[in-house]
Amino acid sequence: MMTLMLALGACSGRESNKRTVTTPPPEPATQVIKSDAEWKKQLTSEQYRILREAATERPHGKGYEEFRQQGAGTYHCAGCGALLFSSDHKFDSGCGWPSFYDPAKAQNVKLSEDHSMGALRIEVTCAVCGGHLGHRFDGEGFHTPTDQRYCINGGALKFVPAEKP
Ligand SMILES: [Zn+2]
Repeated sequence: MMTLMLALGACSGRESNKRTVTTPPPEPATQVIKSDAEWKKQLTSEQYRILREAATERPHGKGYEEFRQQGAGTYHCAGCGALLFSSDHKFDSGCGWPSFYDPAKAQNVKLSEDHSMGALRIEVTCAVCGGHLGHRFDGEGFHTPTDQRYCINGGALKFVPAEKP
């Protein structure tokens, strides 16, 4: 799977050496509760639609392209900064959205049943601010240690590149 991912990445012709130095956002010490007005002010309209209205971004969008090109680092909630996922667990499922087979910090990732599309799905939300992240699908046959796919909207994530050794 890693080989495939690298091969696909190389085809894009958009490899970039640009590197911005970013420090991880502070981990919230408590639950983050804000009014809709506050979220609207803080988030972009796309982030608001995903995190606060449980919208799904279009597949193969900008967030997915960026995800495929990102190297080592951590993925934090775009709403509150909580650590959610790590590049250690990312894989290219080909589905069009960032995919992980495990959370980086399980206590920050909340799972609940979602019956909204006429079928039972597992919704993935940020346990700290309640923001909608995406869904988890199990047993699809991906060759990952868990055979689970956390299918996450790129717009719900903030990527922080790892420090170079
Ligand atoms: Zn959050």
